Amino acid sequence: MRTQRALVRPRLDNAPARVHTLGVSDGKNVFRIARAGLHRFEEPCISGEGGSGTLFFSGCDMRCVFCQNYALSHRGAGLNVDGDDLVALMLHLEREGAENINLVTPTPWAERLIPILEEFKTRSQLPIVWNSSGCDSVQTLVKLQGLVDVWLPDFKYSDDALAVRYSAVKDCFSRSVAAVSEMRRQRPKDIFDDRGVMKEGVIVRHLVLPAATENTRGVLRAIADIDPDLFVSLMGQYFPTPAVADHPVLSRRITEEEYDEATDAFFAAGLHNGFSQELSSAVEDYVPDFDTDALAALIASLPRSRA
Ligand code: SF4
Repeated sequence: MRTQRALVRPRLDNAPARVHTLGVSDGKNVFRIARAGLHRFEEPCISGEGGSGTLFFSGCDMRCVFCQNYALSHRGAGLNVDGDDLVALMLHLEREGAENINLVTPTPWAERLIPILEEFKTRSQLPIVWNSSGCDSVQTLVKLQGLVDVWLPDFKYSDDALAVRYSAVKDCFSRSVAAVSEMRRQRPKDIFDDRGVMKEGVIVRHLVLPAATENTRGVLRAIADIDPDLFVSLMGQYFPTPAVADHPVLSRRITEEEYDEATDAFFAAGLHNGFSQELSSAVEDYVPDFDTDALAALIASLPRSRA
């Protein structure tokens, strides 16, 4: 069982992991998503008791060779929906008890999501969570100001060569620093309700990779430089997918020693808010199902938000 515990400040128990995604698109009001559902395996302050209302977008602004949602991020699996469908799905998730609306890998869709989020916010008080690769442009983030309540970016690399090799992204470190800095500027305080569920703030996720301890140290130092009070989710959930089964480095999980080094680096950087995971959580079972037939049936059953 994948568990996640607070590095310093305990909140709710038993928060297994989660995964990323992203997509591609055509028309101005067309989105491609692969899953809408309650997800209980995020950080405790995101999943809460009701679960996080996740919307998984197809496609990705990164191309990580180790991606656990390869079909979505690399191949664009999913279903085309329009903005009314999206709003209807968000309202459905709220009725199901979602603690928030969690947009998973929304970056390629950011511009066209703006009117959708504006409309949703006229109809709901639920926090919007932006669960991205962390390479969002500052220009785009500024346009989202006031529409996103909880920023939940990844910060994968301090080593740009590693970012190019594993994720085909240039200047990843400086882009991540700029994005997280802007997110923190917009949400300078982390605000929780009396159940420990985050209502506003920033949580930065870092996936510990095999044989990449220096990369992790650099990421954690950079986060602390932005704000040592930032919450960091130190993820030990990496497991090799078939795409990297023969990779010389990525074909294994991380070791206990590597994760311990990452935890030591967290404290050495001066960070003091965060979450860690049990390494036994690194199992494929926690990758969500992407059943587009079920998604299509759900959408057909929902009232449209506009005529
Ligand atoms: S950032 Fe990388 S790991 Fe995350 S969804 Fe995109 S390709 Fe996959």
